[in-house]
Amino acid sequence: MLEAFKEIEVTCPTCGETKSINIPESLFSQKKFGTIKIQVPVNAVCPNHQFIVFLDTKGVVRGYEKIDIAMAVIPVETEKEITGILTLRKLIQLFGTYGVLSLMHAKIFNYPSYIIKDADFGPTEELLNLIGNRIVPEKYRGHNSIRLLEKSDYSKIKLKEKNALLIDSLTQNILQTPWKEKLKFEEEIVKRALEIINEEEQLRLLQHRIAIFIKEAEQAKDILEEVNEIYDEDLIEQVSREALMPRMNQNRLTLIKEFIKHHFSQKLVSKMKSRVEEFLSSL
Ligand SMILES: [Zn+2]
Repeated sequence: MLEAFKEIEVTCPTCGETKSINIPESLFSQKKFGTIKIQVPVNAVCPNHQFIVFLDTKGVVRGYEKIDIAMAVIPVETEKEITGILTLRKLIQLFGTYGVLSLMHAKIFNYPSYIIKDADFGPTEELLNLIGNRIVPEKYRGHNSIRLLEKSDYSKIKLKEKNALLIDSLTQNILQTPWKEKLKFEEEIVKRALEIINEEEQLRLLQHRIAIFIKEAEQAKDILEEVNEIYDEDLIEQVSREALMPRMNQNRLTLIKEFIKHHFSQKLVSKMKSRVEEFLSSL
């Protein structure tokens, strides 16, 4: 079947180069996905940058996000990939950089993930979940896993969970993300991992950095359980002191809040107070 395409003019958010890209019409004939994230790889619009375009259901560009990860394109498969083992690099080939960051985010914060596939799609659900489970501590693997959906009409896709990530592996488009936060933490650690050549070490680095983050979240949780309320900055101070870490920034705290909300309770998160918000609401 020949698919109809809609031409959409996009501009690289880093260097300003503009070009039209083709998006399947069928994406816009349905309305259920809301904002769709289109991954634009290096060389699609400009030779140096990859980025995300946010499109609404009418195909109007609603925003951009830069992805600051450069990956050397190595066309040959690595030894591991030939024997059917998933590697970080293979995952990026399958889902695009932002697709991988999104899958990691879903795994860490316990959202279900759905991947649309066709007959040529290689890995099984088991294999995908195996690598997902490897990067988070056993205790936090959660009940949500990656599930594969057979490619059909977009309008026929029915997701049981509204709160799920949905990726089309055929186009690498991200059809639904149930969160608002940017994926800066995931971007940072994937970038570091890709600087390592050994593929086993890449996974170990991800695992290690995620474990550090979770340890901070657990410390924040322990502190919150002991107080009625606490200011953000006092919590930052205490966690950093106990974890013997440099003072975390506001983004990290936002991420910790998300982690506590999804793995422990919303009630704990509501004990956190912000002086800035208090000040603004007093005006
Ligand atoms: Zn550019």
